[in-house]
Parts: sequence; structure tokens; C-alpha cells
Amino acid sequence: MHEMSVALALIDVACEVLREHGAARASSLTVRVGQWSSVVPEALQAAFPASSAGTPLAGARLHIEPVPGVGECPKHGPVHLDLTLGLRCPLCGAPTPTLLQGDELELDALEVE
Ligand SMILES: [Zn+2]
Repeated sequence: MHEMSVALALIDVACEVLREHGAARASSLTVRVGQWSSVVPEALQAAFPASSAGTPLAGARLHIEPVPGVGECPKHGPVHLDLTLGLRCPLCGAPTPTLLQGDELELDALEVE
């Protein structure tokens, strides 16, 4: 399962941060997930408890902060993308192959106990 490996990678990063701060456990973590990343927030949420078992993040609450997609239209500049339209400007339909925002998958905050 893809989200399981994503959860494990995030837990690795979070454990590293905990070590750097000399903290034993985290009570919650916030992760930014772009709407255009390949990660389904619900699946990540579901994979987290099993992935974090036995780590300093066991029992921590996972907050997922969705990040909307923004592409660059040659005519309109930065535009908010519509998932149902694909990588196209919602105003004029021009292809917007460059994502300015929306493919994030990163640890945003970590609350220690
Ligand atoms: Zn446009």
C-alpha cells in the first residue's frame, strides 16, 4: 500500500526531529498534503496508527492539511487548478504543466509531549 510507505517515511522524519529536540514522544503531527500529490489523505490517515505503532509517534494525532493546486497559465498567471479538469487553466483551458503548489508532502508541525 502506497500510503503505508508514505506514513513510514513521515514517521522517520518526525522521529529524527524528536531526536534533535531530545523529546521522547510526540502528541500530534501536522502534515501538508498537496491535492496533486499521489497521496489520498483518508488512506494516509488510515495507515498511520499501524505505521506508528512501536515508534515515539504511537498514539499521536495526525492532522492533514490539504494544499490546493496552483498552476501557471501563460495568459492568467497563477490559477487555482480544478482536479476534475486536470492540469489546465480553469479560465481558458490552456495547459498548465508546471505546478506552483499542490504536490507537497511534508511534515509541517510536530507537537511534543
Ligand atoms: Zn488561463
